[in-house]
Amino acid sequence: MLFGRTQKNPIKIADKGVVEWKYAACGYCSTGCSIEVGLNEAGKPVASRGVADADVNRGKLCLKGIFEHELFDSAGRGIEPLIRDQWHQPWQASDWETTLDRTHDEIKRIQEKYGRDSFAIISTGQMLTEEFYTLGKLTRGLIGTNNYDGNTTLCMASAVSGYKRSFGSDGPPGCYEDFEHTDCLFAWGSNLPEQHPIIYWRMKEAQEKSGFPLVVIDPRVTMLAQNAHKHLAITPGTDVVLMNAMMHVIFDLGLEDRRYIEANTNGIAALEAEVTHYNPVMAAKITGIDEDTIRDVARLYATADASMSIWTMGINQSTHGSDGVVGINNLSLITGNIGKPGGTSLSITGQCNAMGTREWSSCSGLPNHRYLENADDRKEVAKFWGVDEEFFPKKRGMFQTDIYHAIETGEIKGLWLIATNPLSSLPDTARVRKAMESLEFCVVQDCYEDTESAQYANVFLPAGTWAEKEGVMTNTERRVNLVKPVSAPPGQAKPDLWIFNQMAKRFNKDGNVSFPDKAADIFLEMGQLSKGRLADITGMNHELIEKSRGIQWPYTDKQVKNGEAPPSGGKRLYTKDTEFRYADGKAKLIPLPFIDNNEVPDEKFPYWLNTGRLIEHWHGRSKTGKIGDNNKYSPVPFIEINPDAAIELGINRGDYVRLVSRRSDAVVIAMPTQRVSKNSIFLPFHFHDCANRLTLGLLDPHSRQPAYKQSAVRIERIADQQAAAKLSMEMRTF
Ligand code: SF4
Repeated sequence: MLFGRTQKNPIKIADKGVVEWKYAACGYCSTGCSIEVGLNEAGKPVASRGVADADVNRGKLCLKGIFEHELFDSAGRGIEPLIRDQWHQPWQASDWETTLDRTHDEIKRIQEKYGRDSFAIISTGQMLTEEFYTLGKLTRGLIGTNNYDGNTTLCMASAVSGYKRSFGSDGPPGCYEDFEHTDCLFAWGSNLPEQHPIIYWRMKEAQEKSGFPLVVIDPRVTMLAQNAHKHLAITPGTDVVLMNAMMHVIFDLGLEDRRYIEANTNGIAALEAEVTHYNPVMAAKITGIDEDTIRDVARLYATADASMSIWTMGINQSTHGSDGVVGINNLSLITGNIGKPGGTSLSITGQCNAMGTREWSSCSGLPNHRYLENADDRKEVAKFWGVDEEFFPKKRGMFQTDIYHAIETGEIKGLWLIATNPLSSLPDTARVRKAMESLEFCVVQDCYEDTESAQYANVFLPAGTWAEKEGVMTNTERRVNLVKPVSAPPGQAKPDLWIFNQMAKRFNKDGNVSFPDKAADIFLEMGQLSKGRLADITGMNHELIEKSRGIQWPYTDKQVKNGEAPPSGGKRLYTKDTEFRYADGKAKLIPLPFIDNNEVPDEKFPYWLNTGRLIEHWHGRSKTGKIGDNNKYSPVPFIEINPDAAIELGINRGDYVRLVSRRSDAVVIAMPTQRVSKNSIFLPFHFHDCANRLTLGLLDPHSRQPAYKQSAVRIERIADQQAAAKLSMEMRTF
């Protein structure tokens, strides 16, 4: 195949012998790219390509998507159920009946001995939505533990919490198309080119056409910051002070939208009173951003016809994560920037289906943003599922981060981990390891049997991955897209849905609760529960979703019947006055007093430790660490360190250094760069037994999300570089 200028230096793409292309949505990040996987004559996946008529990615894929077909036969896949009495014994191969029976019996034993909530379940943002819904029905309706959460608490909990506090419900109001309408973009703690490359491309293309100014707020000179009109290198964890100071300036200059505030919000007086304490002079001292810049960006934001904010982990992973989201929403609301094209607050989600779990898993309540605390919600779902409403708890249980503390105290004795690897992803690895060792029973369900957390399991359930299964996922802009099976799970591995349904049979002995086994049927059941809700999907089905290359919710059957619905669904939430989800239809303006409660650098630990992602890798590298074309670009852990700091410490490019925090230490390679300030370092979090050995992870009081990005460390040059290289190799899993 030839493309580009055919007369000069044509590029030839290797012919992989593809005879058939199969449709899916990408299984890595929340951008939600439509992808096709090419099969050769033998039915083997050999290529991936972007889908040209998909609105999200318009034919493009990033480095992870391009090699996604290599996932299916990557090393370490689980191919048979495994079992053992004690976690430190060797695994024994088993069969599904024995393994599922053992899992059921142990859950029952623990619950009967210690109480229903003594068994915890932690899932993921990586499964398909029908699987989340089924797991929620099994957990809430039959197993009955209230200590059930997803690893999305580690990435999106602050966004969820902030949306709920401001608007009365979770649900991102905006969409990618807003880039094409905005007159001003603020990116808070978000490095799009590396974390969400295709959203970056959408943003950049829109910016090149309209030329809107981009303001990046980030302690590090990220790739996005390098392209910004203004980069505000903020002191870690102080975003709320900047937001308050911006509002101070906006009110001071009378730039707020009084009509919008009156019509759509409550709480203006308390907010105005609070922000009087945050003048730019005092804010400059806390945030490290000079007062004139604060005034400039406040004016820029408030005077643009439509202003848009996006954010990622720089806001969410903080002790002020939820407040940071509320602060962004406050700014949007006082300037009338919710609900109009280009005026929005859009959280850029992390995992491919973090949104699906928020909508349908029942982790934080009941399906489709229903609350356990609401008697009507409990009654409605109990009736629909055919369970006793009294079986439901009356308030949500622990978050993932609290579940681990409850394991330490002995309150929780058993754990089911589904497609998540807390030994790599939770802060303070040593503490997590100790907790895992103390469990009476642990079951790990994953597509890889070689994850660090599986070391502590008594039972391993081999699951299918991504496009070995069928179902939908929701992306950052509420777009529901379809994944179709490209390949069968290897060996005896089974789709997660099959595993949940088999477990349900064991708990559902009288057969009162129905567990359909086809994803398309489950989707229609979910549709019934969505009728009239914010996330109404009654107008969708699998076939239509594939045909449309994804549909944004809400998309109702009534709209379809009346021929009203646009083909791709609801672009924006809250497009009319007073339709927020609080009882009176108004959003809340919430004052945000700032309390400095982070670990901060001191004499003993003088550097800020900032952690984050690289473009080549996905989270704990369970997948991308095994795909050669991803791993070869970033095979080892390293830090970005300021060249002046490196000189002071006698560190050269490529030297091994030891990072020490109050928790533990880690050995990494030093890469001097001006991207970080003299008192901070950046460490990618992907590598096992590395970043999270160091992190403290204090929790946000509302969202319980850890502050991964604000810990203090010291840096020691290692005298014996050869020994350090050996140690570093030993600490690497792959
Ligand atoms: Fe997949 Fe995200 Fe890359 Fe798109 S941007 S190909 S969804 S990893």
